[in-house]
Amino acid sequence: MRTMKNSAAPFDFRFERDGAGYIVSGPFGPALRLTPAEFRLFGAGKVKEGSVLFRRLEAAGLLRGRLDFEAEAARARGLSAGVYGGPGLHILVLTLKCNHACVYCRATAGGAGKNSDMSRATARKSVDTAFASPNNKLSLEFQGGEALLNWPVLRDTVLYAKKKNLKAGKDLALSVVTNLSLMDEDKFNFLVKEGVSVCTSLDGPARLHDANRRWSGGSSHAKAVHWLKRFAAAAGRDGRADTLPSALMTTTRLSLADPRGIVDEYRKLGLGGIFLRPLSPIGYAGGAWPEIGYGPEEFLGFYRAALAYIMAVNGAGEKFVERNAALLARKMLRAEDPNFLDLRSPCGAAIGQLAYNFNGDVYTCDEGRMAAACGDELFRLGSVRAGRFEDLMTAPAARLCAMASCLESQPYCARCAFKPFCGVCPVHNYSVQGSPWGNIPGGSWCALQKGMFKTVFALLEKKKTRKIIEGWLEKGAAV
Ligand code: SF4
Ligand code: SF4
Repeated sequence: MRTMKNSAAPFDFRFERDGAGYIVSGPFGPALRLTPAEFRLFGAGKVKEGSVLFRRLEAAGLLRGRLDFEAEAARARGLSAGVYGGPGLHILVLTLKCNHACVYCRATAGGAGKNSDMSRATARKSVDTAFASPNNKLSLEFQGGEALLNWPVLRDTVLYAKKKNLKAGKDLALSVVTNLSLMDEDKFNFLVKEGVSVCTSLDGPARLHDANRRWSGGSSHAKAVHWLKRFAAAAGRDGRADTLPSALMTTTRLSLADPRGIVDEYRKLGLGGIFLRPLSPIGYAGGAWPEIGYGPEEFLGFYRAALAYIMAVNGAGEKFVERNAALLARKMLRAEDPNFLDLRSPCGAAIGQLAYNFNGDVYTCDEGRMAAACGDELFRLGSVRAGRFEDLMTAPAARLCAMASCLESQPYCARCAFKPFCGVCPVHNYSVQGSPWGNIPGGSWCALQKGMFKTVFALLEKKKTRKIIEGWLEKGAAV
């Protein structure tokens, strides 16, 4: 075996071709761009000691003879800080019924005509299960269908969880995901009083939002905007930043033509930022893909255009965050875990979150529950009606997801320059490719992640845009 004894011998590295050069990283980042000539010198262990390139490689932990083990350990700890805490996010599906017929979700079809409301007893058992998690930071998220269609149980569960927490003393956050069409003064007052934050969907301007989110009762957009403003005003009045309402955007094929209009809608409402997410082909959206889906390159074109516009907006003095870019930057610049469960190794399935279906069945995550709604129970962990928390956490589906999403066990990812910051989704792989491990190099997940990493990495290389993104990561920024 040939060994390199000089101080420029490369340490365990991975690389990615990008344009004419290479992006290179060590096991825990950071990533570095090298020209082809620099890459050849680095790979051959022939970088001159003391040169600028040598110092760059040394600082990035890429030289075997110049490793700072403390720094490497700190980076490893930072990037996987959330992996060991136990599930913190608990999603309670209060009903499958919905009064909307959104193009990417067929919850109505799934729930109509069935008794698909979560009972009070099941909701309380779900809360008990959530409190059994060792994680001291608990987030209970009420979802549907349309969660407000099961208002009595939502109300009861909020009070039950808060009472339970008087003894448990956890850092408890409560939120409801709702289309806001059924909001009224009583519900509003209760949610504000109890500190339950509201998250709604906002796909863009009225024309786009209402085309995606069809509602026979009128304009879904008008309702969402009206109540978003009311909740924002209440949070401002009470000085409660933790209960500021938030909005989530789903990108359909229709969205691709209007990146500016979508960003402007979020700016107009004073939401402070936007999370530009590609459409997930899991569950019902998979069935509607021919109508609303698109390829990775189409999304990336949209993403780059929106991000360029957001940079211009920030450059003109308005702080407006793109949360996807911010979370990738947090990993690449600071080696911190932004607690985004879908981009972690291993991912947050079971070990970071649990999804409780209306009937008490528990799944690895909401996406695992959505796969079950389409008839496949692979990601079911058990039920709140039987078994202990420990049984859920050691169920085969929990172990399967942890193994399949551990990037060290994904041969293609293990060699990728973005591996220190990335993650893969076993439910996505299973839905699209028929196996939780999937075929990463041939899949849309990787194409999307790689494209977004390259886009954000390029922005971090430019002084002006890097400064903007660093500003997004300052304390208090919602990332
Ligand atoms: S399986 Fe997929 S959706 Fe579920 S937590 Fe993991 S990455 Fe997220
Ligand atoms: S999914 Fe793609 S971008 Fe992410 S680590 Fe794997 S190979 Fe790299």
